[in-house]
Amino acid sequence: MPATTENPRRCALVTGGSRGIGRAVCLELARAGMDIAVVYAGNDEAAHETVAAVEELGATARAYRCDVSDADAANACVEQVLADFGGVWVLVNNAGITRDGLIARMREDDFAQVINVNLAGTYHMIRALTRSFMRQRGGRIINMSSVVGLMGNAGQANYAASKAGIVGLTKSVARELAGRGVTVNAIAPGFIETDMTAALSDGVREQYQQQIPLGRLGHAEEVAALVAFLASDPAAYITGEVIRIDGGMAM
Ligand code: NAP
Repeated sequence: MPATTENPRRCALVTGGSRGIGRAVCLELARAGMDIAVVYAGNDEAAHETVAAVEELGATARAYRCDVSDADAANACVEQVLADFGGVWVLVNNAGITRDGLIARMREDDFAQVINVNLAGTYHMIRALTRSFMRQRGGRIINMSSVVGLMGNAGQANYAASKAGIVGLTKSVARELAGRGVTVNAIAPGFIETDMTAALSDGVREQYQQQIPLGRLGHAEEVAALVAFLASDPAAYITGEVIRIDGGMAM
């Protein structure tokens, strides 16, 4: 639904909204009164579960299957979301993948895929929505980086490069869109309990946990609460910022 005088509801487009942090973000933004466009790669069942959970909160939601690394698909997806909802107030670029490996053995394809989904995907979605953001003279872009993009991490050169790239992208676009009242920020989570981190061995989890001053992994809901704050009206004066949410891991 468009955000008109009769219908002041705003729409949030969340990439990677089917699972993990993205699903928690969809639910938190719905609780904040927004309608939700859930963008996902291929897990239809998970995406429809998110839609149903958002609808249970009384918001409107629709799922859009789209590989954000494909520029044409990202453009088509954004066009459809704009047609369905009439506008997008909040864009959350959260879709992300890992293909870990030490640099000496990292395959060209593993490097390219991670950069294409995490970094180019974020760029595709921002570019597809920029004109709409400029026309509406307001809105929020929130990009999911990672503490790994700030600190580096052995075995994750591709992922760390993609997440560091998101920091530069965020700050540049924040400067470009500030004059139109659009804020652009990045969030850098530490080690959060999701499918992505469930894939790690017990030994690696233990090692990470020892590096976290607060002594525990984070929850997707904690990251979602930060996204909801950045999307809220009181956060209107924050732009070009990178906010860590990591239990103190990268301080
Ligand atoms: P996750 O549980 O693995 O979920 C990944 C999400 O991204 C899924 O919704 C997936 O869709 C979607 N996705 C993957 N490739 C895509 C593509 N090409 N196009 C569109 N959507 C795509 O991940 P997560 O742990 O929630 O992480 C979410 C974000 O936070 C990522 O950017 C990640 O790098 C970042 N992050 C996570 C952690 C952590 O500890 N978990 C820490 C720092 C940063 P399908 O369900 O259809 O596959």
